[in-house]
Amino acid sequence: MTVSDAALRESVCRCGASLHARGLTAGSSGNISVRTADGWLLTPTNASLGNLDPARLSKLDHAGNLVSGDMPSKEAFLHRAMYAQRPQAGAIVHLHSTHSAAVSCMTGLDACDCIPPLTAYFVMKIGRLPLVPYHRPGDPALAAAIGALAGSHRALLLANHGPVVSGATLEAAMYAAEELEETAKLFLLLRGQNPRLLDAGEIAALNTAFPPE
Ligand code: ZN
Repeated sequence: MTVSDAALRESVCRCGASLHARGLTAGSSGNISVRTADGWLLTPTNASLGNLDPARLSKLDHAGNLVSGDMPSKEAFLHRAMYAQRPQAGAIVHLHSTHSAAVSCMTGLDACDCIPPLTAYFVMKIGRLPLVPYHRPGDPALAAAIGALAGSHRALLLANHGPVVSGATLEAAMYAAEELEETAKLFLLLRGQNPRLLDAGEIAALNTAFPPE
């Protein structure tokens, strides 16, 4: 069944309001996109996710050109770079959520896997989380850095910035972004505590029972 453009617009606004109400996005930070039959919808620039208007969402074609609506988020290129490498992705959520952003500022992270496998749900919804090196906002080189990692990862952590999380549906992307934020919180709480991590056999069993997208 094809979800109508109107239903997708409503779902973006509902998702934004939910993330905003729970403190996962502040000011006009963060952006949400969904694929449509002829391109994608993105939250506009300088818009609070808590107060989105379905009629004013930016509608972009496959190449990222604005078709209608308000000017798109300046971070549109993050979404485009991720969609280009992940044909299975139906939606992307990008946040500056506090705990994930805090981890993105830490030194000594494993750049291939920033947050260790602390819980089964983190492994199932995020898997391995690579760190994308720091780029200033708007630097086109960031798109290439994302593109290099997006094909083999559902989610990425932008250094000194925040997470970019894809999902088959908007609901899946939002839930995964929330799982990442909660696991980042656990990771920070457990620093210096020597937690038991899921081992390779436990991770393999999860990936067999719940194959990644
Ligand atoms: Zn951002």
